Amino acid sequence: MTDAPRSEALFRRASELLPGGVSSPVRAFRAVGGVPRFIERGAGPRLTDVDGHEYIDYVLSWGALPLGHAHPAVVAAITEQAARGTSYGAPTELEVRLAAVITGAMPAVEMLRFVSSGTEAAMSALRLARAATGRDRVLKFAGNYHGHADPFLVQAGSGVATLALPDSPGVTRGSVADTLAAPWGDLDAVDALFRREADSIAAVIVEPVAGNMGLVVPADGFLAGLRRITAAHGALLIFDEVMTGFRVGWGGAQARFGVTPDLTCLGKVIGGGLPLAAYGGRRDLMARIAPAGDVYQAGTLSGNPLAVAAGLATLTELAAPGVYELLAERSGALARGFAAAAAGAGIALQTAAVGGMWGFFFGDIPVTDYATACRADTGRYARFFHAMLDAGVYLAPSQFEAAFVSTAHGPGEIDATLAAVSGALAAAA
Ligand SMILES: *Cc1c(COP(=O)(O)O)cnc(C)c1O
Repeated sequence: MTDAPRSEALFRRASELLPGGVSSPVRAFRAVGGVPRFIERGAGPRLTDVDGHEYIDYVLSWGALPLGHAHPAVVAAITEQAARGTSYGAPTELEVRLAAVITGAMPAVEMLRFVSSGTEAAMSALRLARAATGRDRVLKFAGNYHGHADPFLVQAGSGVATLALPDSPGVTRGSVADTLAAPWGDLDAVDALFRREADSIAAVIVEPVAGNMGLVVPADGFLAGLRRITAAHGALLIFDEVMTGFRVGWGGAQARFGVTPDLTCLGKVIGGGLPLAAYGGRRDLMARIAPAGDVYQAGTLSGNPLAVAAGLATLTELAAPGVYELLAERSGALARGFAAAAAGAGIALQTAAVGGMWGFFFGDIPVTDYATACRADTGRYARFFHAMLDAGVYLAPSQFEAAFVSTAHGPGEIDATLAAVSGALAAAA
């Protein structure tokens, strides 16, 4: 393994000050072993760590950076705004402009509320769904992640799956008593739950393309089926597009798959690497949010002008013609290249790509849900991850995460990445 003495020293000190040495669990490398790299800077497709190692970055702040690191337009927008103040606790024109861009891209989002994290977006959307339907229960899918609010910490995917916590201590039985779980993709299970519990289910919340158990693309008809079942029973359909929004395409998964949810959660890309998220949807529903309506939700830094400026600059770049075609071409080239290298090495590998997301699982069965994702060979992933890291490619430190590309990843980065794969597969065999 490559020497990383500065990261090692920082991690020892960090571990005395921060639980696990990190500010969010998956960063700690527990699923792959070793010491997390402390990052000094990012530029375009690359990260540089404190020991001076450079990596081609496919984590991209967990999908938040579709333009790569320190894109000049984003840096300029943040810098310009920072000189005028970082937060006012009062409305700004920037919020109106970003809201107009988002609602223009997503017709199902007629109104929205800015918040600061995807967690907040999902918990607030659920509160609204409960208020609007007068029902308490929420149906979620195994392996989908909707942030760490109590009602969603049931079969929650990535961080939780990686650490093998089926749910978390500190989450009361009461707060998950109204949460139902079904296998992702299983319409029969959803139908059965609705037949039994229809009068109590406020909403179905789903990652329309799953990204928190590794990347899993929905089978034909799954999302449309959810739309049909929820509509038939007077429940709301919430698309959690915190990861997929402006990532799998302009307009998100709902545009790509042609299914219209009642409520949508956004995050990651819309803040361009700063803390920003949103929930939105039908006007009659959003009109229930305070102060227009009676459902309370608020935030000191909500709609923070630096974050909104970064998001606006990011979406402005993404709106240019051909951007998503370019991202899809690059993610497709990576998925195909990984598949070809694995086939050459005689190693079973499942790959997928959609828009600016891609991913792979070590194993010989197609991955369609959380149960099949969990059959992936995590030991081989860990060895492969470290071999790629040593070769200067930064993948997610867990088998159960999606990979991303940015517009800054050019043919040179793709070629360099694919050139490293065969050797890393051999090292991981
Ligand atoms: C990242 C993510 C969240 C949580 O967002 P945070 O900003 O980390 O709170 C929620 N839902 C999905 C689908 C996500 O990918």
